[in-house]
Amino acid sequence: MREECGVFGIWGHPQAVHLTHVALFALQHRGQESAGLASVRDGQLRLHKGMGLVSEVFTEGVLRDMAGQAAIGHVRYSTFGSSDPVNAQPLVIRYHRGMLALAHNGNLVNAPQLRDELEAQGSIFQTTLDTEVIAHLIARRPSRELTEAVAGSLAEVKGGYALLFLSPGAMIGARDPNGIRPLSLGKLDGAWCLASESCAFDAVGAEFVRDVEPGEMVVITPGGMVSQRIAPPGRPALCVFEYIYFARPDSDLEGLNVHSVRKQLGRVLARVAPVPADLVTGVPDSSVSAATGYAEEAGIPYEMGLVKNRYIGRTFIEPRQEGRALAVRLKLNPLRRVVEGKRVILVDDSIVRGTTSRYIVGLLREAGAREVHLRISSPPYRFPCYYGIDTSAHGELVAADRDVEEIRSLVGADSLAYLPVEGLAEALGRPLDRYCLACFTGEYVVPVPVALDKLLFERGRFPRGV
Ligand code: AMP
Ligand code: SF4
Repeated sequence: MREECGVFGIWGHPQAVHLTHVALFALQHRGQESAGLASVRDGQLRLHKGMGLVSEVFTEGVLRDMAGQAAIGHVRYSTFGSSDPVNAQPLVIRYHRGMLALAHNGNLVNAPQLRDELEAQGSIFQTTLDTEVIAHLIARRPSRELTEAVAGSLAEVKGGYALLFLSPGAMIGARDPNGIRPLSLGKLDGAWCLASESCAFDAVGAEFVRDVEPGEMVVITPGGMVSQRIAPPGRPALCVFEYIYFARPDSDLEGLNVHSVRKQLGRVLARVAPVPADLVTGVPDSSVSAATGYAEEAGIPYEMGLVKNRYIGRTFIEPRQEGRALAVRLKLNPLRRVVEGKRVILVDDSIVRGTTSRYIVGLLREAGAREVHLRISSPPYRFPCYYGIDTSAHGELVAADRDVEEIRSLVGADSLAYLPVEGLAEALGRPLDRYCLACFTGEYVVPVPVALDKLLFERGRFPRGV
């Protein structure tokens, strides 16, 4: 069960819908389950969303019918079974202020409690998204002012979020008080844009202006952009996993380029966990940056040991285990001529359940590798994420209750080493007290309600974030 999402919005541009569509392509790595776009046209909101990749969800005709001067878009990722079309975003509601579209990346830790309270008071929910809780909170606030209603509602929710709101009169972007989920502000031909990652700005030709600050809300109207605080800034805690795995290498987050950080992670890893070998290879695509850093630092050649087939859409993702094995085989193929008879250092960014590592180590051995040394450019992933990365229930995290030797034996590598937590600080060149590290350390910057914990541990289920 894995979830992440990407959001993009633009206000005040004649090509808003087209640009949002393009930006969603650039954010596709953050979510491949569903895609959606809401626009303002003739003072009304239009919505189109569906299951699948951006390329599968939209047609030229649909985009033409939606054309307007403002739009927000969303991509959502979940490879877990019941991916329900009703949970695709943006969410559009009609209520006493008119119409409102919401797009959300993150997870609200108090959503179950808020939802229980709202339901007890008669609210009817149509989705299982915590985003819908925010919609209800906004609708219930008496103020005529959307900005006030949004700010007041966000004061009630807790967790990690990057949120976009679109009404016929305004676009609003907000980031949680700890800045766990990323959100950046850009500009194109005088129009303001908001995006989960700066690679979306590059795709549409927008200029990166700055990151939205933790606890900041930016309100964009025909009058311009106004910044306002929804909460006093908490301890900054950007998700460090954005650097390790989620974000695209060409994105910059809080002034650091993702590829450069990954390369540094690899360099530090090579220093703390060296091993004699003939070549270094990375698991494509996310681990290639770290692997090249490792190779450079170790003075061992980087080689393309695995080839990834990029053209397999969601259609091929099979719920059945046999189908899944076939899909992985189609997705990754080892280069026999490169690895045969060689001592290989395989760099990957993370091990979650261990399935991928075990499989790839096996692939390399089948292709004739003499030794396979697995090096992970992050610390052991031991605790569940409650802030928008739906990794899996605690029991499924291979490092939750195993030591490194047990994991090595499970994945079948000749040796295994992880990056220590301090190695993250060295690679980032910044103190760790400005990042979220909860999945590695178990220190949750936003307290996780006990009930949520119990729900997770006892029944193996917890609220689905986006
Ligand atoms: P696993 O097979 O569960 O150990 O998955 C680990 C692999 O999935 C690594 O190669 C990572 O690059 C990748 N990965 C790590 N976290 C996630 C996530 N939240 N969603 C999807 N893939 C992930
Ligand atoms: Fe990111 Fe891990 Fe924190 Fe989740 S727990 S927000 S994955 S650093």
